[in-house]
Amino acid sequence: MTRRKKIYEGKAKILYEGPEPGTLIQYFKDDATAFNAQKKAVLEGKGVINNRISEFIMTRLNAMGIANHFIRRLNLREQLIKEVEIIPLEVVVRNVAAGSMSTRLGIPEGQVLPRSIIEFYYKDDKLGDPMVTEEHITAFNWATTQDIDDILAMALRVNDYLSGMFGAVGITLVDFKLEFGRIWENDDFARIILADEISPDSCRLWDAQTNEKLDKDRFRRDLGNVIESYTEVARRLGIMKEMPTVIQGGQTGDKAEKAAEPDGEAASNVSKLH
Ligand code: 5GP
Repeated sequence: MTRRKKIYEGKAKILYEGPEPGTLIQYFKDDATAFNAQKKAVLEGKGVINNRISEFIMTRLNAMGIANHFIRRLNLREQLIKEVEIIPLEVVVRNVAAGSMSTRLGIPEGQVLPRSIIEFYYKDDKLGDPMVTEEHITAFNWATTQDIDDILAMALRVNDYLSGMFGAVGITLVDFKLEFGRIWENDDFARIILADEISPDSCRLWDAQTNEKLDKDRFRRDLGNVIESYTEVARRLGIMKEMPTVIQGGQTGDKAEKAAEPDGEAASNVSKLH
């Protein structure tokens, strides 16, 4: 595929101009960052796995009537998405205490919360994504009260669906982060849809039996086997049963594509992780 104009480069993804107006290409990098990019690494194959897991989840959410930006996967590392005006918020849904909630409130990691809790963070790397309230969000015009109601309703529906989906394959959905964007239908009406990605980079996923971490905390906390854990999540979801041992950065040709497909011709030529 001919490279198009780069629109934005983030820590784990790049957005390119899409083939038609109102579309973008979302490219998943292997780069991993944590603690506001103070910790960095390249985890070979991460982008390929996250592209597939996010495709899988967004497709199912779409089928559930939860509108999102995903259109279709293009190749190993890229998906075609709808262009949205990103709302500068990270919306975190928590079912079990962990991470910053445990640190901030002293609630032991692993304690099941009395009910799901939604938090908002202002997306700003320089400020370290500070937590904000609805007061800040409406006062600074990041979103309206109606937008917040829509976001809360969608976030709870996503949580219900994903908790069930992961629960069915022996994974506890501890918490996750969502991002939303606006699509303008006419000059004065915008629809809010789910954007960004949903993957082990943006969720805490624990094995339901052992509480073993199968997500980005393996990288944040130097637990090792990061890619193996992400692959395990994909395997349990029934996607990506096999992974090429060497996934070359940026390789988007037919050969690479077939190698990633369980049924592809090249699948028999690649070693299995499991
Ligand atoms: P915490 O606030 O405990 O650090 O994170 C809560 C949840 O949101 C975790 O599942 C974490 O992975 C996700 N999350 C929070 N901030 C970010 C972020 O900037 N990027 C990504 N990928 N996930 C985040």
